[in-house]
Amino acid sequence: METRDFQPFLIVLGLMALASLALAFTVDPTMTDESGINPALPDRVGEWRGADVLYCQNPEHQATYLARDLEDLSTCPDCGGELATMSLIEKQILPADTIVLKKQYTSPLGGRVIVSLVMSGKERASIHRPEHCLTGGGSQIVGSHVIEVPIQHRNDLGVKILDMLNKGRTSDGRTVSYASYYAYWFVGKDRETPSHAARMFWMAADRILFNKSHRWSYISVSGSRQADSDAYEQEIKEFIADLYPQMLRSKS
Ligand SMILES: [Zn+2]
Repeated sequence: METRDFQPFLIVLGLMALASLALAFTVDPTMTDESGINPALPDRVGEWRGADVLYCQNPEHQATYLARDLEDLSTCPDCGGELATMSLIEKQILPADTIVLKKQYTSPLGGRVIVSLVMSGKERASIHRPEHCLTGGGSQIVGSHVIEVPIQHRNDLGVKILDMLNKGRTSDGRTVSYASYYAYWFVGKDRETPSHAARMFWMAADRILFNKSHRWSYISVSGSRQADSDAYEQEIKEFIADLYPQMLRSKS
């Protein structure tokens, strides 16, 4: 690797160091409610139809439901517990003003994709490096790369894809493995990036240079894939090219 390849990293490191000093010695930056996207997931993405995912908050139950199967969206039909848009574990670890929304989308051909949106609140600790939460429990990351998603009337969107391999057990005790993908990117006010490090950098830069702290969001799209084919990449591109413009806040 040539020296100049390191330069962006050195600049980032320098700014990070500056950021910690600035955070330690200056007053709180102005919190703004500004975010790049609307806190909502569209009902339709092309031919795909979305249904809200709801979680039972009863620690003994914690079941998952699709809103379209329920008459009462606030009460668990099986145990009477409270229903919420985030799981009990998410509610316990995320700051209270974090917005978490999930939708399951199904295609006419029977395809299934889960989309999640996590929007940080005033505390900025809501969004973590996704890789930390995905492994364990029989799942491992077997590859990762960034794709460029072409979107009409604008520049391409960089999206990071994690290739996952999962092991599970069938009801008769056999072990089965299946391949899936987990694609994600981050959105701030006027900023987009598939990189966790870049997001941390922009957050620090906005604080230091502009004394601002915007709401960042984290969007993920996940589904199954064939272990020996990369056809899923095209599916992801088409899906996101229709999904994402619907979520963006229109510029005023
Ligand atoms: Zn329940």
